[in-house]
Amino acid sequence: MIDQRPDLRSMAPDELEKIMEELGQPKFRAAQLFRWLSQGARTEEMTDLPLQLRQQLSGRFRLSPPRLERRLDSVDGTVKLLWRLFDGESVETVLMKYDYGNTVCISTQVGCAMGCAFCASTKGGFVRDLEAGEMLDQVIFTSKETGAEINHIVLMGIGEPLSNFDNVLRFLRLVNDPGGRGLGMRRISLSTCGIVERIDKLADYNIQLTLSVSLHSVDEDVRKALMPVARRYDLESLRRACARYFDITGRRITYEYAMIDGINDSDEAARELARWIKSAEGGHVNLITLNDVPESGLRPSPQKRVRAFVKALEREGVKATVRRRLGADIDAACGQLRIKTAQKGS
Ligand code: SAH
Repeated sequence: MIDQRPDLRSMAPDELEKIMEELGQPKFRAAQLFRWLSQGARTEEMTDLPLQLRQQLSGRFRLSPPRLERRLDSVDGTVKLLWRLFDGESVETVLMKYDYGNTVCISTQVGCAMGCAFCASTKGGFVRDLEAGEMLDQVIFTSKETGAEINHIVLMGIGEPLSNFDNVLRFLRLVNDPGGRGLGMRRISLSTCGIVERIDKLADYNIQLTLSVSLHSVDEDVRKALMPVARRYDLESLRRACARYFDITGRRITYEYAMIDGINDSDEAARELARWIKSAEGGHVNLITLNDVPESGLRPSPQKRVRAFVKALEREGVKATVRRRLGADIDAACGQLRIKTAQKGS
């Protein structure tokens, strides 16, 4: 039987205050509880809360940390964790270590409905949205499991964050709250395949996170072939949304561009990409080496081609970085582990 009770870790501080009021507790208990929840404590561990309150909370709410199903450690220090959720579903989280600190890459949905041709996360289809608390759990328990302090968060794991808009926004507020983990918005990146009206909606909240847009091509036909979402939103509407996002938030967008052999990696493609980005008020290009997803039939561009592409962009005045390839030996690309585990029937 699936536990139907509301998830306690998804509750915002003001909601916890209401709960405390209902239970006849003073307001300050809510802040104490929120701090414990943000640290991943079990109710038994919340020692400065009255025993009766702890019992009431564990009776009325669900507080079910994910169970670690598998842990893979890469030679480069990247750690990949597969979690079993309270209802038996599973998601992946990746911890990456950079000179500037530790980054955790979290999933926002179980599976994905977007259907990008090169992506492993979408192969089994969409199962369900994650709750805010389940996203927070990935941050908390990845930190606990690995002993690493979390300095940055990227919403680039399994799922399309802007399809799960309300829960993602709630998660951002929870993790940002100074009474909890207090992680600065500027230390958080959200990646979207380009759902135009949701980019517009996000812009209206005017929060300081970094928006990454998965572009992969500025040729309408190529993008449509790679990303079904491009059939709903053409490049012109995406360009307008990106320009508007920058106008409102003042935050430059990062464009993700996976280099695919013979598909989007010519010098001509680089020039068109540069033109497009300049017309969208600029931004940074993050070139990704395509991770092999064998069933896709797509191959990564040779490194020589990637370097030539970077130069071609630079000649047009657009800055690009090539994302360091971390965790290739442990299938650290999104969704690969979940799919493999499912295929083995475990
Ligand atoms: N749904 C969101 C976030 C998850 S994917 C999005 O589409 O942006 C995070 C990034 O990894 C995206 O840029 C996505 O296009 C890219 N990606 C997915 N599969 C990949 C693969 N096999 N190789 C390289 N990048 C991949």
